[in-house]
Amino acid sequence: MNFPVSKFRTLQTPFYYYDRRLLESTLDTINREAACYPHFHVHYAVKANVDPTLLSIVQQSGLGCDCVSGWEIEACLNAGFNPAKIVYAGVGKSDWEIKLALEKDIACFNVESVPELEVIDQLAGEMGRKARVALRVNPNVDAHTHKYITTGLSENKFGIAMELLPEVIDRIKTLANVELTGLHFHIGSQLLELDPFTMLCDRINKLQDEVETRGIRLKTINVGGGLGCDYETPDDNPIPDFADFFANYAAHLKLRAGQELHFELGRSVVCQCGSLISRILYIKEGVNKKFMILDAGMSDLIRPALYQAHHKIEVLTSTSAELSRYDVVGPICESSDCFGENELLPIASRGDLVALRSAGAYGQIMASNYNCRPIPPSVW
Ligand SMILES: *Cc1c(COP(=O)(O)O)cnc(C)c1O
Repeated sequence: MNFPVSKFRTLQTPFYYYDRRLLESTLDTINREAACYPHFHVHYAVKANVDPTLLSIVQQSGLGCDCVSGWEIEACLNAGFNPAKIVYAGVGKSDWEIKLALEKDIACFNVESVPELEVIDQLAGEMGRKARVALRVNPNVDAHTHKYITTGLSENKFGIAMELLPEVIDRIKTLANVELTGLHFHIGSQLLELDPFTMLCDRINKLQDEVETRGIRLKTINVGGGLGCDYETPDDNPIPDFADFFANYAAHLKLRAGQELHFELGRSVVCQCGSLISRILYIKEGVNKKFMILDAGMSDLIRPALYQAHHKIEVLTSTSAELSRYDVVGPICESSDCFGENELLPIASRGDLVALRSAGAYGQIMASNYNCRPIPPSVW
């Protein structure tokens, strides 16, 4: 990626830098590849990044959105998304969030438990509405990803166990104010192999047969997101392989005539368009190590501390042809505030600019005020 380094020199660090052109070409690719299958519809999983400019670019591209809180629903409405393209998931929906979604008449609740279903039915009744719901089913598929971003195993808190689906469907039939429109799944994030998605298709095919024996025809199947990104060589793979991802579903999922297939992609849409830009404060010599101390830390980008994730580190302004080993760390009072150990980087010094790449998803949005630090701003 070609960074506007001379512009960066004039700006206070740290900040998130977003590449509008890469975001737009990623969205174009998604739209083009999904259009090969007229019944495929893509929603953007808003929790990956809600920068207002980013949301508005996504909105203009025509994608729908997938929210996991009432605040996200508000952000999407403010960005101009049509409520008919908003779906809402989450294991713990508060009453005000459910009422907001009913009042705005969003497309669908992705319901994760029977008690939630009962509350939605009650609130919808009080408001004189009928809620469209999809049941989030936990398909017990191992996504082979970090345990904090695996969501489709029985031991995870998400969704309704497959075994319980028949009784939940019978329960829905007794609720006057909810209409079952689909089944919803999301098995995890940062999946780099298609096999778990193929296993998910097998599960869905079986479940659809079962559901139909109970006299239910579903309008939509929603398979969530999860497609991963290349964090190690982002310039080789700036846009994930959406063609393969969609083709795999087209090949393995037995959709019924007229049925829609919905996707909720977060990371794969916005990951590569963002970088966290930082300055080197100090190069500190240890006994056996050299520390590159940045002015950005885990409060700005928590993925390394939270998931042992690694973001490619690039020194943008060093002119040295010589390399050296550095532990790249932040200024925060936690030992987990480390972006990389023994990184082989050009020899750098105080004031050099550093990019932490592939930080567009789950970066800025997970930033905190820890140590009274401000949330880093966006630069487009
Ligand atoms: C987080 C999430 C997504 C998006 O996941 P990505 O891995 O970022 O594509 C989709 N659906 C639900 C329900 C989620 O919680």
